Amino acid sequence: MELLVEEAAFVTMAEDTGPSGPGGAMLVRDGRIAAVGPAAAVCAAASPGARVVRLDGATVVPGLIDAHCHVADVGYLAAGADCSQPSAPDIPAVQARLREAAGRTPRGSWVTGSGYVEYKLRERRHPTRADLDQAVPDRPAVLYHTSLHACVLNTAALAEAGLADRQPDPPDGAFGRDSDGRLDGVVYEGPMFELFVRNLRADLARMDAGARARLVQMASRRLAAFGLTAACDADMRQDSLPAFAEADAAGLLGLRIYGLVVHDQVDWLLASGLRGRWSDRLAAEAVKIWADGGMSSRTAAIHGSYPVPPYGSGILYFERDELTEMVRDFDARGFQVAIHAQGDRGIETVLDAYAATLAAGAGGAGNPLRHRIEHGGALYPPLAARAAALGIVVVSQPGFLSTLGDGFAEAFGDRSDELYSFGSWQRAGITVAGSSDAPVITADPRLGIRDAILRRTGDGRVLGPAERLTAREALALYTTQAAFAARREDETGSLEPGKLADFAVLDANPLDADPERIPGIGVLATVVGGSPVHESAGIFAAG
Ligand SMILES: [Zn+2]
Repeated sequence: MELLVEEAAFVTMAEDTGPSGPGGAMLVRDGRIAAVGPAAAVCAAASPGARVVRLDGATVVPGLIDAHCHVADVGYLAAGADCSQPSAPDIPAVQARLREAAGRTPRGSWVTGSGYVEYKLRERRHPTRADLDQAVPDRPAVLYHTSLHACVLNTAALAEAGLADRQPDPPDGAFGRDSDGRLDGVVYEGPMFELFVRNLRADLARMDAGARARLVQMASRRLAAFGLTAACDADMRQDSLPAFAEADAAGLLGLRIYGLVVHDQVDWLLASGLRGRWSDRLAAEAVKIWADGGMSSRTAAIHGSYPVPPYGSGILYFERDELTEMVRDFDARGFQVAIHAQGDRGIETVLDAYAATLAAGAGGAGNPLRHRIEHGGALYPPLAARAAALGIVVVSQPGFLSTLGDGFAEAFGDRSDELYSFGSWQRAGITVAGSSDAPVITADPRLGIRDAILRRTGDGRVLGPAERLTAREALALYTTQAAFAARREDETGSLEPGKLADFAVLDANPLDADPERIPGIGVLATVVGGSPVHESAGIFAAG
């Protein structure tokens, strides 16, 4: 099976090549790239029966890779109410979206909405149980904050979750309260995660294999429409990984999925037989740990304290020794370790754990399993120098800058120019991979590429102008460097002979475009292993 792609500009992202002219070609044989470059040489290598697809001057980039998103959650939340902007600009709109969702939610499941940010709502506050009760009075309803570090419950949901007004705050989270001390329905961190996981698990358990596979298929279609060909699922669990395996077996898994399995599910993973490279589309050989909370919920563990609610200095889930013990154990068992760390205090604890582990193994030489820090928001210069010296890969989210950046600026004041300092990190020698953390924000990597170049918040201020990347550096976050973070740089991330034929066909070249216009670049087709998984222009169908 040969496919010859012609009349396109190829942005290969290979080390020593710039973009080709518009007359380039690429030959795909058995799902892999056989040749790419000037048309004459590539066409000469094709056999006479090769299928020819002409792209009419379009741009071909390596398949984009989201190094940290929540693929199963994208599919799950997509079925509920969309309470993000611009769908729900104020609380009455949130209520209307929840009412609509109630009509299509099966009995037994909670009415579910997601995507709100309190400081983006017109009222500039969290919705409360009373707001949710007005929309859904007679059955449990939950509204997840876009960060997935907080949520709001209505009265029926509070009752079903066993939360009463006298409930004290747990050590790993907090409950919002009104002026009389009654629960106002907002739940932060630990108990919120429990609720999310419990609901997701209960709803997945209610689905048959076909419904679970459709959820995975819905998520992979959404991602493929953005030009993504691979993603790391940063929250793989015993109820989601089998759904991916089922979808893969049924030929419904469009994308390549690298699962980061939640640390307390590793024993299950080993018993399940799903550890490792299950197929060329599905792998589970990394472990996910949360060290602290989130930036937009102001629960990231920082030195000092937040000037805005819920105040405090954030939440640290593990003491240094406990975290070190976990990292050592997973490292010794050959797992790549990926740790969520946002605040400087959280990041410091993670670096201590990595330093202790990497110094203890292999004579301290490098980081062969590519242990990662996820997010790294407040990875300030001294911490970045430590991360670089240890060879830690940082997987971050440029798209947070335009979507959540104003909230960061409010919470971090004069340090906000040092957040997500991609330029400094790279100058320090860190490999930085791009990702979305979807469904926290859209999975669209075009937004992240633009934000890595412009660093402009929603209100128009530029956070850390010195940290801006060039267009090529921004694209590398989502191609070569994301492939490195997933330990797949020998297979994906650039268009080179021998690699998998994963690519996206765009209607403009993001390296030449006005950065403002990058989110508007059209994805004409997304191809995984030589087969189209998304088409908007019928190129492959017609070709
Ligand atoms: Zn995440």
